[in-house]
Amino acid sequence: MLPSPSEAWQSCLEIFQDNIENTISFQTWFAPIKPVELAKSGSQILLTVELPSRFYYEWLEEHYYALISTTLAKVLGPDARLYYKIILAKEEEEEAAMRLPARTVSRRPRTQPLIRSEVPQEPVDRPALPPVKSNLGLNRTFDNFVEGDCNRLARSAAVAIAQNPGETSFNPFLIYGGVGLGKTHLIQAIGNYVRANHGKKRVLYVSSERFTNDFVQAIQQNQISRFSSFYRSIDVLIIDDVQFFGGKEKTQEEFFHVFNELHQIRKQIILSADRPPKEIKGIEERLLSRFQWGLTADLQVPELETRMAILKRKASDDGIDLPQDVIDFIAHNIKSNIRELEGALVRLMTHATLLNDEINTAMAKTALKDLIHHRPANLSIDHIQQIVCEYFDMNQDLLREKTRKREVVQARQIAMFFSRKLTQNSLKTIGLQFGGRDHSTVVHSNNAVADQMETNKQYRDMVEQIRSSLLSSLP
Ligand code: ADP
Ligand code: MG
Repeated sequence: MLPSPSEAWQSCLEIFQDNIENTISFQTWFAPIKPVELAKSGSQILLTVELPSRFYYEWLEEHYYALISTTLAKVLGPDARLYYKIILAKEEEEEAAMRLPARTVSRRPRTQPLIRSEVPQEPVDRPALPPVKSNLGLNRTFDNFVEGDCNRLARSAAVAIAQNPGETSFNPFLIYGGVGLGKTHLIQAIGNYVRANHGKKRVLYVSSERFTNDFVQAIQQNQISRFSSFYRSIDVLIIDDVQFFGGKEKTQEEFFHVFNELHQIRKQIILSADRPPKEIKGIEERLLSRFQWGLTADLQVPELETRMAILKRKASDDGIDLPQDVIDFIAHNIKSNIRELEGALVRLMTHATLLNDEINTAMAKTALKDLIHHRPANLSIDHIQQIVCEYFDMNQDLLREKTRKREVVQARQIAMFFSRKLTQNSLKTIGLQFGGRDHSTVVHSNNAVADQMETNKQYRDMVEQIRSSLLSSLP
């Protein structure tokens, strides 16, 4: 007696789960698979499972072939075979491919009876709409997005969506990850691909702030219905940095409706956030749960090899010849994100042009000194005070005195800020070295400096200059 297809598949799932480290990958690739049939044919046992799209088939075959075949043999014996049924999106039907044996020799799908997916029809007589300005950066493409372990899942899903917007089960598609890791690049790459390959689709990229501002403006100008119908006319809606919807109730409500209506008629929604959805603050539960209806994928900090590949790629795009040891040097020292890698390259190029200097490791060391984030072990509070006071041409003792003269307060705050940032000392110790001040004064100074850096460019430049002198004052 054969087990039921779902019993057999359940046993397989347990093995898959044990063998796939990343639970997101497991959820993404295996949870949507449905077992549909288990049958005997001669000596063979055939298990048929249904996949949401062709992309799943390709992905599973490429990445999980070995795991799937050993699992199947374990659960159903050596004569077991797996068949995939794929739910086809409308346009695919002509080239129809239906039942695909796992890892066929040719991989060319054979024609079998069709399974139609229930794709709602587009309204036929959609009135001609004025073209939409997409707001996409032209150089944000898949072509120049370097693939690595840190972004593989997100990138592949993005490609699948770009090829079939609205028709994969990745709707919405939410990418999250820290600053400078490529979220904006990747979501815009989807938009650019759709624009280039599905010319009729209306693609719109907006930041969540822009959505919010447009909405507020629409309210003020009494043009809400225009706002709504505009957003509802979009085929691929890309919203960047949705964490900024936090706390904006009215905007969230509007977005909730836009989301529902677009989703219902299978328009593609693509979102980015700087953290996983459940950690986003101030967003209504019903919206958060919708963010997770489709696929959530993260971008991680790039590993060494990817950092090197990105540097190589960017340098060659800019037409500069970067020696391997310089690539190694940068990739080993700048680790936190890709924007900083780019910053380092720009810095090197400027340095090379200005000084008419050859790019080599020694030059890179000097040019990038202040970008390299090692926490200098030998930087002391006293040394920081000294450098800051040199900058302001002021007597160091003033920092420890009670005076509240403006320049002194400013120098004191900045020195405290760097003592906090660049040394391991506790708030209490720092306070003590500034004339026995309380730890809350240190916290306050730190915030005051950070706030002013946010809002005042001149101030920010000044602090950065002091940072440079601090770092270059080290041996
Ligand atoms: P985020 O939106 O996550 O803060 P961005 O998308 O703005 O990050 O990326 C920062 C910079 O790094 C951009 O200039 C982008 O083109 C570049 N970048 C990010 N990821 C990659 C990648 N995998 N390959 C090439 N460039 C990348
Ligand atoms: Mg961004």
